[in-house]
Parts: sequence; C-alpha cells; structure tokens
Amino acid sequence: MTDTIFDKIIRRELPADIVYEDDDVLAFRDIHPQAPVHLLFVPKRKAFATLNDCGEADAELLGKLLLAASSYAKGEGFAEDGYRCVINCNRGGGQTVFYLHVHLMAGRQMAERMV
Ligand code: AMP
Repeated sequence: MTDTIFDKIIRRELPADIVYEDDDVLAFRDIHPQAPVHLLFVPKRKAFATLNDCGEADAELLGKLLLAASSYAKGEGFAEDGYRCVINCNRGGGQTVFYLHVHLMAGRQMAERMV
C-alpha cells in the first residue's frame, strides 16, 4: 500500500485537528467539511487501502472504528439528534484517499437520499 496523507497524519508528519485517539483508532477533522461536524476515523496500526482489503480477521477493528464514531457522537451530545457514518470504497464509491476511513458527519439535517 502506498503512503497516503492519512499515514502521515497518523505518524504526526502532517498536521491535523485530532479529536479522538485510542490504541487502535485516530479521528481528526476533515479538511473540507461537508457538515458542521465532519470527522474521519482511521485505524492506526493496520492500514487498508479500501474496505475491500478487509477480511474476517479485521472484523473487530472495523467494529472499533464504528464504535469510536458512535462514542464520540454520544460524548459530544449529538448522538440522539443523529449523524451519518460513511465509508467510500474505490473511485466509483467516491474514495479519494486510499487509506480506509469512516466519515462521521453531523450538525445539519442529512438528506434522506445520499446523492
Ligand atoms: P474519501 O473521498 O472518502 O476518500 O474522503 C477523503 C476525505 O479526506 C475528504 O473528505 C477530504 O476532504 C479529506 N482530506 C484530504 N486531505 C486531508 C487532510 N490533510 N486532513 C484532513 N482531511 C483530509
């Protein structure tokens, strides 16, 4: 897997507005937010280019990404109001940074249709 912007953020070689970190997950603000809250949750220690690269052995880590997002939403008080989690996969799915990440967006009414 080639080095991406997110690898550099995880290694602290590029600045980012980091809002959450634990042993497995790092979360930082999207540089081009599409909602008042727009965060990216990435696995810290095992890198995947896309969701397609994950297998059974990665189920726990994938779960941790989603649980980190919901924990953040609960902690910040917007979980009940609602939020959206998105994983874009490959070019056809709108992926531009090829390091697996979960978008967490909140703070505005999300359209019922995603596109
Ligand atoms: P995706 O299109 O799903 O691959 O999402 C990649 C996201 O990364 C986009 O929403 C970008 O705005 C965001 N992004 C790109 N570079 C940076 C950066 N240096 N710091 C934070 N977010 C970034």
